[in-house]
Amino acid sequence: MRRTLGIDLGTTNSVVAWLKDGEPEVVSDTPEGSGNPSAVGLTADDGLLVGQEAMNWVERDATRVITTVKRLMGRQFKDEKVQQALGRMGDGGPEITEGPDGGVLIRLGEYRYTPVQISAIILRRLKRNAEARLGTEFGRAVITAPAYFGERQIAATREAGRLAGFHVVRVLSEPTSAALAHGLGRATEEDIATVLVYDLGGGTFDVSVLTLMAGVMDVLGVGGDNLLGGTDFDNSLAGHLQGLLDARHPGHEPWPGDAAKIRKAAERAKIDLSAESSTEVIVPALGASGVVLSETVDRKEFEALVSDRIEETVRLALRTVAGASLRPEDMDQVLLVGGSSAIPLVRERLAEVFGREKLRTDMDPMTCVALGAAVQSALVEELECPGCRAACPLDADACPECAAPLVGAPTVECPACHVPAPEDTEACPVCASDLTGLVVERPAPSPVVCKECAEENDPEALECDLCGAALRDGGGLKCQKCALVNHPGLAWCSHCNTELPVAAPSDVTPRAIGVRTSDGTLEILIEAGTRYPTEQPVRHDFQVTADPGDMLEIALHEGDLQPAERNDLCGVALYEMTEGTAGTKVLTIAVHLDQDRSIRVETRLDGASFSAAAFRRNPMPPEFRRRAREAHGRFQTFLADWRHELTHAENAVLAETATALEQVVRGEAPGRSLDTLLEEADVLLERQQNIRSASALSYRYPEHVADLMPQEDLEAMRRHRTALRVAREAADFERGHKIADEVMSIRRRLGTDLFRVMNALSFASHNGVNAALQQRIQEAGDGLTEAVHRGDFAGADAAKSRITDLYQEVRRALDEFSTPERKTVHPRRMAR
Ligand code: ADP
Ligand code: MG
Repeated sequence: MRRTLGIDLGTTNSVVAWLKDGEPEVVSDTPEGSGNPSAVGLTADDGLLVGQEAMNWVERDATRVITTVKRLMGRQFKDEKVQQALGRMGDGGPEITEGPDGGVLIRLGEYRYTPVQISAIILRRLKRNAEARLGTEFGRAVITAPAYFGERQIAATREAGRLAGFHVVRVLSEPTSAALAHGLGRATEEDIATVLVYDLGGGTFDVSVLTLMAGVMDVLGVGGDNLLGGTDFDNSLAGHLQGLLDARHPGHEPWPGDAAKIRKAAERAKIDLSAESSTEVIVPALGASGVVLSETVDRKEFEALVSDRIEETVRLALRTVAGASLRPEDMDQVLLVGGSSAIPLVRERLAEVFGREKLRTDMDPMTCVALGAAVQSALVEELECPGCRAACPLDADACPECAAPLVGAPTVECPACHVPAPEDTEACPVCASDLTGLVVERPAPSPVVCKECAEENDPEALECDLCGAALRDGGGLKCQKCALVNHPGLAWCSHCNTELPVAAPSDVTPRAIGVRTSDGTLEILIEAGTRYPTEQPVRHDFQVTADPGDMLEIALHEGDLQPAERNDLCGVALYEMTEGTAGTKVLTIAVHLDQDRSIRVETRLDGASFSAAAFRRNPMPPEFRRRAREAHGRFQTFLADWRHELTHAENAVLAETATALEQVVRGEAPGRSLDTLLEEADVLLERQQNIRSASALSYRYPEHVADLMPQEDLEAMRRHRTALRVAREAADFERGHKIADEVMSIRRRLGTDLFRVMNALSFASHNGVNAALQQRIQEAGDGLTEAVHRGDFAGADAAKSRITDLYQEVRRALDEFSTPERKTVHPRRMAR
């Protein structure tokens, strides 16, 4: 039985829960049972700090601690949300820059991490702490994410989980999770409940309106302010305390760490004031003169400082309700979620607006999202293979179809920068340290104590050695009637047939998903508000007109703006059109959304069978993709034109770059700087074109016009011909490029006329294109040879100019036969 952790990966705090004997329980290593700060830092000598330790380091060196990284997850640096978040982080924190792929990079000490890597460090620490505490391995997780997270943010969350060593069973929306924790997953047909989830955390305020019907949870609306939360209250109170301090100690000189100390004391006071009507704040040893801040703050004072912001949350909540075409009185329940919703003024105002009897105050707002994630782990009936998407049984460790692992791969920690990596990784992705030979430390398994007879059993035992009682619960929910802990995925108790307390909810898409069409507009395939997982793939027919060799690009975007490029790109599927698929065809696109809104696309051309596309996420900024697409087109054309003339080595190098470009076009990270890749691709192709032309010239001059060339040039050409062949066979482009330059300078020295004569004669010696023209050139060429041999200069000149004239016709003939440029085509709307 594989265990699954439920994780609330929060902006400020992260909380972990699991199902113990069929009921969710927080796994905590902090005494008050609350969360661990979502913070990562490095000490002065690069020791890793996670959670509270990292927060404590802020006073010493804020540039080495990153907090609120969730705001940066799955986003481009230029994203408005990222820019707002950066503005909010203010000065003094770590340096945050744009990565080579347009993403975000966070610098701690000398290392630069992606938000996914930082989150993976947090998740890995949570995993290890839980494992050490419970003595069992957790290879799987349900991780929660805000309802407004788009597909890219969800993908980033999944990736962080994978890097931390989890198979991520589900990315669950936070309000849905909170509702599950409140036991709201089960409603009958007659019994529809409308629920407001008011989630006021440390740095964000999220509000959602849900309806619960039999087995379905619909998100009717989401709203809030992702820059409003408990930190604002801390800052207000800290500002107030600072003012009092300055008034009492005029002229005192503050020290750099003072502000952080006062803020910390303010947060403590704020939390005290949720339970007490007044509290003492004491901060010793401030500034150069070591003054002491000592004040009594009462609740009324605090409320006066924060009431405007709390009023703002109430206003936003009402707006979200109205946006769902509902009235406050339509809310059947109001769920209080997020640490800041413990503030009495919040509860008071919500009671006034929605009715006191509607407020659910029976759960800890800090932990209920994590508890819901643990409940969700009991509702999963089967696993979806991350590789081939096959449905797999819960007890499988790997997909029976494609062998993809269904349990997280054990990870090691880079000894230098601390980023987690799979056990067999050679070089650290952040700092390139050698990771070979690092072995995963597994938690020491603790014995299982039998509940019947207290016998300690082997950790893997299923039944007690002594009394034979079952030692393990099924991993599902506990029946309220007979107390049996069921297997996951059941709706009814397998013993007494009583309905289990919650059922697996489905969810709805917050935004539409559409495809970019040939005129650049977005055609919606899946409307916002569509229930997922989709039972049947959603199918749409398009037309596509293409030539063989063209690339058909199916680019899916999340959103409903026009043109398509203004929306978030979810991913791209590419198909090369072959002889059989070219022309005008009917293209059917089938889209399937799985439990966490991952997209699978299948396509069919003219009724052929569907082919599934590996749908790549982690998309690039549009301008990179456009440049990559153009470069890819040029590579394709060059390879198609010259494949047979290129050496084995050249073909291999070009194909490798073409593949990397194609990856970028699909929206996949190529594993190196995009800028460098695009630049190198341009240089490579230019050199290749150069080398190839020079090669051709070094053959053709000696072959066709040897008699008309000065002896030394002829010899040089022959020498270069051999040298070029050697360089090309070794794919030594550097050297090839130098020789090519020399060939070109000889060509220039020999002049345009001779070049044309050579080209015309070369053309005439090939068969097939235009026999009559070839014939005339050949005759003129023979005339030229004879004239030269006779020493008849005038005759030779006349023959040369005849050939040069014919060359114009050659050009026209050649143009007709040149390969058309490869295009990227998009689906076109069907004529209606
Ligand atoms: P997030 O979801 O953003 O990670 P949390 O739900 O963990 O946030 O809430 C953290 C915030 O809640 C912090 O600002 C913390 O100070 C505040 N908080 C925690 N407990 C209380 C309390 N009892 N009263 C008021 N604020 C609290
Ligand atoms: Mg939260």
